[in-house]
Amino acid sequence: PNANGNYLVTLIPGDGIGPEISESVKRIYGAAEVPIEWEAVNVTPVIKKGKTVIPDEALISVKKNTVALKGPLATPIGKGHVSLNLTLRRTFDLFANVRPCKSVVGYKTPYDDVNTVLIRENTEGEYSGIEHTVVDGVVQSIKLITKEASERCARYAFTYSKDIGRNRVTAIHKANIMKLSDGLFLDVCQEVAKDFPDIEFDDMLLDRACLHIVQDPARFSDTVMVMPNLYGDILSDMCAGLIGGLGLTPSGNIGRDASIFEAVHGTAPDIAGKDLANPTALLLSSIMMLRHMRLFTFADQIETAVLSTIAEGKCLTRDLANTILAYQHQSLKVRSLCEGT
Ligand code: NAD
Repeated sequence: PNANGNYLVTLIPGDGIGPEISESVKRIYGAAEVPIEWEAVNVTPVIKKGKTVIPDEALISVKKNTVALKGPLATPIGKGHVSLNLTLRRTFDLFANVRPCKSVVGYKTPYDDVNTVLIRENTEGEYSGIEHTVVDGVVQSIKLITKEASERCARYAFTYSKDIGRNRVTAIHKANIMKLSDGLFLDVCQEVAKDFPDIEFDDMLLDRACLHIVQDPARFSDTVMVMPNLYGDILSDMCAGLIGGLGLTPSGNIGRDASIFEAVHGTAPDIAGKDLANPTALLLSSIMMLRHMRLFTFADQIETAVLSTIAEGKCLTRDLANTILAYQHQSLKVRSLCEGT
C-alpha cells in the first residue's frame, strides 16, 4: 500500500461501453471503501515507427502497479494494426488465462449447478502463429508446446486450486492423438502434481470433458481444469454458455510481470453511451483481482452484494431482464406443449 494505506491499481477503461462499466465499478468500490486508488490510463494506440502501439505511459503504469483492471478494447481492423489485447499479452507475458463460470442464482438458465474453473495456457500451442503455405493449396500450421510454458501454467493451476479451496486439478488434452505435443503438456502436469501432494491430479480427454460438462457440470465443481491454448479458448466459452453467455463471465490474465483482469465480453458498440451496459462481468473480474491481491473480505462483501441483487431480481439491467423473460416464455411454451400432448 502507498502512504495513504491504499493499493495502486491501473485502470484501463477501454472502448465502447468500457468507460461506463469502469465508472460503475469505481462507484461501487468507493461505496465499499476498498483501499484501492485507481490510476486510469489511456490505451488509445499511438503511431511509433510506423506501427500502432499502446502508449508507453500505460505500459509503465501496469508494470509499476503489477495489477490492472481492463475494460474491453476495440480491435482495429486493417493492416499495420497490432491487436491491443495481443500487445498486452505479449508485453506482460500473460501466460495463464483463468475463467471461472458459476451459475448465478436468479439468472435462470437450463443449468443451475455450474461451478467450473478453467485455466488456459495463453502463449503458445495452436495459437503460436507459425503457419505457412507448403505448396499452392496446402498449408501447414504448427502447434508449439514447450516444457517451460506448460510448467508455469500447470504450477499456477495447482497453486490457484489450493488458493480457492479446491482439491483437484484435471488436465484436459488429446494426448491419445497429439502424442508428442499434448503428451508433453500432460507429462509436465503429472510432474508438477508431485510438488502438490494435498491436491489430487487426474486427466481427461477433451471430447470426454465436453460430454461430461454438458451432461453433469456439477462433477467439475471441485476441480480446476488446465489445458493448452485452443482447447481452453473453446471450452471456456462452452462453460460460459451454460451459465447464460458471456454477459456475466469474468476472467483474469496471470502474467510474469503483471496480472490483468477483464470481462470476457467486448465493447458492445451497439449499446455504448446509452446507459444500458451491464457492469457485472467487469465487477466480477475485479473481485477476482481483489482475491489475487488477497483483499478477501472486500471481495466477499462485494460479491455477496452483486449476486444477491441479481437473485432478488428487482433491479436488473436490460440484458438480464430480457434473458430471464425469454427463458420464462420458453418454459411456458414447453409446458403448454407437454400439457397439450
Ligand atoms: P461484444 O461482446 O462487444 O457484443 C456482443 C453482444 O453482447 C452485443 O449485442 C452487445 O450489446 C452485448 N453485450 C456485450 N457486453 C455487454 C454488457 N456488458 N452489457 C450488456 N450487453 C452486452 O462482441 P462484438 O460485438 O463481437 O465485439 C465488439 C468489439 O469488441 C470488437 O472490436 C471486438 O474486437 C472487441 N472485443 C474486445 C474484447 C476484449 O477487449 N477483451 C473481447 C471481445 C471483443
